[in-house]
Amino acid sequence: MTNLNFNDELLAELNELDRINLRRTLRVVDSSQSTEIRLQKKKYLNFSSNDYLGLASHPALAEAAQAALKHYGTGAGAARLICGNMAIHSALDNAIAQFKDTEAALVFSTGFATALGTIPALVGRGDTVILDKLAHACLIDAARISGARLRAFPHNNIAYLKKVLKQEKSSKRVLIVTESIFSMDGDAGKLEEIVEVKEKLGGWLMVDEAHGTGVFGRNRRGLVEQLGLSSKVEVQMGTLSKAFGSSGGYIAGSRTLIDLLINKARSFIFSTAPSPAVAAASLASIQLVSGAEGERRQKALWDNVSYFAQNLPAPWHQDEEPQSQIFPLLIGDEAEALAKSKQLERAGFLVPAIRCPTVPLHQARLRVTLSASHTRKQIDELIRHLK
Ligand SMILES: *Cc1c(COP(=O)(O)O)cnc(C)c1O
Repeated sequence: MTNLNFNDELLAELNELDRINLRRTLRVVDSSQSTEIRLQKKKYLNFSSNDYLGLASHPALAEAAQAALKHYGTGAGAARLICGNMAIHSALDNAIAQFKDTEAALVFSTGFATALGTIPALVGRGDTVILDKLAHACLIDAARISGARLRAFPHNNIAYLKKVLKQEKSSKRVLIVTESIFSMDGDAGKLEEIVEVKEKLGGWLMVDEAHGTGVFGRNRRGLVEQLGLSSKVEVQMGTLSKAFGSSGGYIAGSRTLIDLLINKARSFIFSTAPSPAVAAASLASIQLVSGAEGERRQKALWDNVSYFAQNLPAPWHQDEEPQSQIFPLLIGDEAEALAKSKQLERAGFLVPAIRCPTVPLHQARLRVTLSASHTRKQIDELIRHLK
């Protein structure tokens, strides 16, 4: 072991990130989340949020959180298995199960923690987990710490998935993990094909609907609902921090699955229950999303998606129908993507440059996300600037 200077050593890493245009810094928002947000006193049109239904600053959520604060205080005090399981947490579990039309559901503190707890509870040594190559970091990390053999298939390459499934025949359990809507590409996982393959060759399926819930399906349960696959997907994962405008993650599925997670998911067992205020906001949001308000917002979002897609300038304009509310405007070079993002920022738009390691090296892009709350005028302004 060489006697390295701690700060010099770390600084060298940061300088290298700087050099290759991959260094990140924090920005400070001093307004609520909305299509218009304020950063250091300057107003921006926000096209970078995952608040797809515009609920993050909805008064019904804030009011529910305030009522819960009054009743329960701020902290849950302990993990849910100790004394932190307040009535609001169980009510939220039940509301999610009802919303998703599954036997049961379980809330975790975040979507990330949901994945970290769930995958290792389902597979371990002697088993195999097969991931789409573009799966979210939390799914990859969860698969890694599970101890199961980690295999991957190129994004949506079903023939390759089949090959892997055949090779893994000797594994005891096989878990296939994918997303419904991919966060940085905005395209859909080939869920119907994956279900067909796993029904034939075996394996269980876990689908992360972080970007699908609230946006897809007649009841806004997600793409799995829209495709009529609810009974074929063993593990449905989602987050409360995107379309629901709150915070937290969940698994929805069979009662047995949820009972097992309560007993085995380490990020559930060894972590304090979510703040009751946050759970109350999530519960209020689920009530809104399942009703007429959710339907209205879902429609408004899709109207915005179609309008933006139709009016996107070259080279990004596509003739096909847009797949989701997420538009990756591919640029490639990291420095160029950063410069474009900065240029938009100077003009008053927040459109982030997404770079490695979030996406592969030299596939940097501007990521535009739309919300039900964007007005036509706001979208027109962005289109004008993109031109
Ligand atoms: C955001 C995201 C998560 C993590 O959810 P959080 O609630 O933000 O922790 C998990 N999976 C995908 C695909 C995501 O985009």
